Amino acid sequence: MTKKTMITIPYARQEINEADIDAVVSVLKSEFLTQGSIVSAFEKSVADYCDAKHAISVNSATSALHIACLALGVGKGDIVWTSPITFVASANCALYCGAEIDFVDIDPYTYNLSVECLSKKLELAEKNGKLPKVLIPVHLCGQSPDMASIYALSKKYGFKIIEDASHAIGGKYKGELIGNCRYSHITVFSFHPVKIITTGEGGMLLTNQSSICKSISLFRSHGITSERADMLQKPAKEIWNYQQIELGFNYRMSDIHAALGLSQMKRLDEFVTKRHIIANNYDQLLSNLPIFTPFQNKDSYSSYHLYLIRLKLHEITKSQKQVYEDLRNNGIMVNLHYIPVYRQPYYKRKGFKVGYCPNAESYFSEVLTLPMYPALEKTEQDHVIKILSKVLEK
Ligand SMILES: *Cc1c(COP(=O)(O)O)cnc(C)c1O
Repeated sequence: MTKKTMITIPYARQEINEADIDAVVSVLKSEFLTQGSIVSAFEKSVADYCDAKHAISVNSATSALHIACLALGVGKGDIVWTSPITFVASANCALYCGAEIDFVDIDPYTYNLSVECLSKKLELAEKNGKLPKVLIPVHLCGQSPDMASIYALSKKYGFKIIEDASHAIGGKYKGELIGNCRYSHITVFSFHPVKIITTGEGGMLLTNQSSICKSISLFRSHGITSERADMLQKPAKEIWNYQQIELGFNYRMSDIHAALGLSQMKRLDEFVTKRHIIANNYDQLLSNLPIFTPFQNKDSYSSYHLYLIRLKLHEITKSQKQVYEDLRNNGIMVNLHYIPVYRQPYYKRKGFKVGYCPNAESYFSEVLTLPMYPALEKTEQDHVIKILSKVLEK
């Protein structure tokens, strides 16, 4: 008997070319591996691309979310709200600052935080004197939430907005690039290898306000300033070429990482275009199967970080778990984005109950993430569909 080698297809992967490798090697051969000129070149390239005034790079989007909260003054006694359908980092950042976290249920079509639920929750919170200081809407899969409506609510109720656009660099909302902060104080991107462009590990904060930029820059690097104007003790006789004026962190990105990011920026539009081709193929090829393909809001041009399907469980005999396992056993490395954050054991200990956000729960019980990355070949996509069709057969 001949043993066939099984093709395995991951749900996501980075795309690295020779130019990326050369860019990293040239930093390795240079004077500065960190705190050199490539970090600021990468920051400028992202700020220019997104049409934002300031871009500040960090070593992950998790760090970015943490210091975004700090820069907006989040602390003990404050409340932060986010979507339950996100990576845990969108919620953890509030807890790092000693604040409380709460969740706004999702829209059943876009799977982003629902403006209707937000609106109702705000009304109630105002009555109870428990309004959030900051809201963190997440651009799930790279599709923008209804930012214009969220922004209008922020004006009415006085909360600030951090966009967790970890999935969304290269995507657009109402014809403008995500990251221009038209509807937020700060936008955050992730450059983890599964995301749209990568630096290995890395993240970026964007803002149009110079005071926020200054605060973020301080928190990124130990709370230290070397600008005389910002120093709190006036240096008279002693040498004070830097002063620590806040409790900050070392969240800096190195020039090695930034070189990869700067090189990847050149192919960002190409990556997103390829993702759209793959998504369109899936939309067509999956149309006869007992699943829902991703709904796209007309205001959104998604970066298509993820391609999510929802199983029509009443039309198939298998459970979600069986479909997941059958696909993985056949080399299709599907995933699940995401388990509602409040269902994690750590959050359970904080008192959150199963069923807290009903839309998020029903989403969680039906969703699967299919493979999606720029280098995914049409033949591989056909293979994914073939296996999926077999698995879903009665
Ligand atoms: C990946 C991700 C993060 C964290 O990004 P890191 O760069 O890995 O720290 C945060 N939020 C969302 C929605 C993500 O997908």
